[in-house]
Amino acid sequence: MLIIDGKKVSLDLKNELKASVESFKTITGNVPGLTVIIVGQDPASQVYVRNKAKTCKEIGMISTVIEMPADTTEKVLLDTIHDLNNDPAVHGILVQQPLPKQIDEFAVTLAIDPSKDVDGFHPENLGRLVMGHLDKCFVSCTPYGILELLGRYNIETKGKHCVVVGRSNIVGKPMANLMLQKLEATNCTVTICHSATENIPFYTSQADILIAAIGKAGFITADMVKPGAVVIDVGINRIEDPATKSGYRLVGDVDFEGVSAVASAMTPVPGGVGPMTIAMLLKNTLQSFQRINRL
Ligand code: NDP
Repeated sequence: MLIIDGKKVSLDLKNELKASVESFKTITGNVPGLTVIIVGQDPASQVYVRNKAKTCKEIGMISTVIEMPADTTEKVLLDTIHDLNNDPAVHGILVQQPLPKQIDEFAVTLAIDPSKDVDGFHPENLGRLVMGHLDKCFVSCTPYGILELLGRYNIETKGKHCVVVGRSNIVGKPMANLMLQKLEATNCTVTICHSATENIPFYTSQADILIAAIGKAGFITADMVKPGAVVIDVGINRIEDPATKSGYRLVGDVDFEGVSAVASAMTPVPGGVGPMTIAMLLKNTLQSFQRINRL
């Protein structure tokens, strides 16, 4: 069974991005800038934001983090986004979710200029993706990272049956739509399963490529997987483990041990899809810089 090593691919990709940032700096005298807004003190969000800022700096981009108090009003946040939309030094804007309850997340998504929406959440970017204009949109980072993994591991996709479990706007829906596109690295027949799907194993056991984005530890078991399938595990779930120092460990939506006896290739958790998500955020930020500077 082949382990699809997202940690290694993300390192390769970050090195490639760093080289591109340096060469574009020579041409333009400028580097891409990513601004991340965090509202409130959610500990998991703080870790994500710190990691994004650190990786950004490692590859030579400018990273700015705007920290706002938990009682920030929607208007203040939208005004801040408006200023960033008009700031030529900012090529990517990201508002870390979840947001406090007084702020409408969709209003925030709509406020970000689609040409700086490096998360790819704006309906204009999602709409362009659905229409197949991948070179004229930002693809949301997790599905984009999975596409990159499939490509770098030469996983055959054309005509294959891809089953996506999960239909969130940030993972499941863009993922399924990507796999449907008539592109060299996609071109699948696609099925989407969700919490109302009857008999999920009926569908998953027909998948040549199975993508799990559910948020339930070990949901996909060996009996749900077709022998030889490629299994991509998006899930990040915390489970108690007294044997570890922290008392917990991270696992995916796939029962790794059981499924690895059946699948031909799999992403581990951690070290699979996760590291790719940040790398693709930086790739999108570089792409924004290239578009704005016509490079
Ligand atoms: P959401 O909670 O937004 O969506 C979960 C989806 O799974 C929903 O569509 C839901 O269906 C479906 N679902 C939930 N329970 C079941 C069930 N019992 N049977 C079938 N379908 C079910 O989660 P996200 O898409 O944001 O994230 C999914 C997982 O991926 C999480 O563990 C998250 O932490 C992880 N994640 C990892 C990333 C990475 O970089 N590796 C990035 C983003 C997320 P319904 O629509 O009917 O409610």
